[in-house]
Amino acid sequence: MRTLDSNKMGMKKPIKKMTISKLKKKVWELFSVYIRKRDCLETTGCASFGLCVTCGKRYHFKLLQAGHFIPGRHNANLFSEKGTHAQCYNCNINLRGNTLEYRRQIIQMYGEDADEALEHNANQIKKFTIPELEELQADLKEKIKLMEDLELWD
Ligand SMILES: [Zn+2]
Repeated sequence: MRTLDSNKMGMKKPIKKMTISKLKKKVWELFSVYIRKRDCLETTGCASFGLCVTCGKRYHFKLLQAGHFIPGRHNANLFSEKGTHAQCYNCNINLRGNTLEYRRQIIQMYGEDADEALEHNANQIKKFTIPELEELQADLKEKIKLMEDLELWD
């Protein structure tokens, strides 16, 4: 087993790809926490519960997901703060994003052309570099910490 593993480690290309995708996954986990906390605080004023962006029902933080207005792991909306909101499982998965209602909400929150701007972003393929992801990771950690500090004042 050990020999097999070290053989794999010896190949340069896959290991680099692995690192970027692993880091991207870590950043996504942080981004998801950030989005859900942000929206919980915004919609209920409490960090443990939030309203789904599209059906408006109230869910526990843990039951909410970070749902994209325009999905896709490779476009420039992956880590878009305007393009991602707390959403319930039913809207995000069963209703595939509940897109019509999501569009209405995007326009209401960010103005007339916001949906088109996000659609434009979705056509751009975004390839992240490790330094970019690391910067994003540090930034998200900071933002989450700031929100947690706020919670202490409740
Ligand atoms: Zn919902």
